[in-house]
Amino acid sequence: MAVQWILVLHGLATLLVVISFLCGHWPIFHGTPIAGFHDFLTFGAYDYFLRFVGVVCGDRGTNAVLSVERYCCDRPNPTLQVIYLAIIGVTYYIVAKSCFMYIPGYYLSGVHRYTSFLAVAVGLLLFLWTSFSDPGTVNAENVQRYISAYPYDNIIYSEKECSTCKIPKPARSKHCSVCNRCVARFDHHCGWMNNCIGEKNMHCFMAFLFWHFLICIYGVVAIGLVLAGQLKESKIVQILTVYYGIENSFRSLAPPIVQWLVASYNTQILLMVFLGVVSLLLAGFFGYHAKLCLTNITTNETFKWQEYISWQKKLREARASAAALRAGDNSIMNEAEAKPSKRKCRFLCLGGSTVEDSKANNLKNNRYDKGFAHNIIEIIFPLSTRRSFKHSKPKRT
Ligand SMILES: [Zn+2]
Ligand SMILES: [Zn+2]
Repeated sequence: MAVQWILVLHGLATLLVVISFLCGHWPIFHGTPIAGFHDFLTFGAYDYFLRFVGVVCGDRGTNAVLSVERYCCDRPNPTLQVIYLAIIGVTYYIVAKSCFMYIPGYYLSGVHRYTSFLAVAVGLLLFLWTSFSDPGTVNAENVQRYISAYPYDNIIYSEKECSTCKIPKPARSKHCSVCNRCVARFDHHCGWMNNCIGEKNMHCFMAFLFWHFLICIYGVVAIGLVLAGQLKESKIVQILTVYYGIENSFRSLAPPIVQWLVASYNTQILLMVFLGVVSLLLAGFFGYHAKLCLTNITTNETFKWQEYISWQKKLREARASAAALRAGDNSIMNEAEAKPSKRKCRFLCLGGSTVEDSKANNLKNNRYDKGFAHNIIEIIFPLSTRRSFKHSKPKRT
């Protein structure tokens, strides 16, 4: 039983660390221990480490750590790519070593030795495709094509020049500070790919996420079938019911069967827990990006809209305060009209807020959202690659 509890605790700890690290900043976790743990993992722990290095090794040690940080976070580098390859390679090696001896089994045919390899190979190809594809680099030669393809909405995008590249900045593009280039329809810079995710490789990135989700599910199901086959071939149910006299019901048989599986196949069960947790995370990440793709909005734009709406809210509050102050001045100057004034003030505030609230609801007027079918086609066939935009003149607004 002790081993079972260690496995359960291991699974829960892995889940907590991975979810806190990757998703702790999401609004649904705001104010929860997961958000606190996320802050600790992403900033707090590093700060403590820097202070510790400063105390033990002095300024030289701190500077060395900071230069490593600059290399890993501010420059294109393959650190996370190597970690990804190591995770994939080691996981596949452990799966092959611990499960292939049972394939073919009672429920699984021998073909899965090859299909599992094929699935991982396709995953690696998708990884290489996304890592080395052009995300839609904007330069002096092609900038006019991007300006034609993506008109300015004059809300979150207006005509301006990239201060680094010294070329006009097309709408929806962003200068990636890590890669030091402007990228069309910029979504985010992905450290795992060591590449930006933009107009021309969003579909590769989505395929990568979805395929890796499928690989994890395949792994969980295949290992589950290996264990079920072992259970069947070892005749454990007959032994438990006939020799040990345990009642032939799920409720009575489940605890001893789980105990037997954990004691005999703990590596396989650990693999199932690991793949299950990763598949959940991949499903969440894929779902989030799929929602963005369907509404034709990028990760970068979600932050821009948040900033814009927050700025509009502050503006409304400032206007309401100014209106209230003006109303207050009027009431002092004319006491007889105090009550109507207050009513007027309340009307102004409420009326203003209602009008502004309705505006705020319309503010997120994403002109690039043309319906989910069109949006999906735009991800697969990027606008700037279409013939109609190749030689068109820039649109001046
Ligand atoms: Zn730039
Ligand atoms: Zn980048």
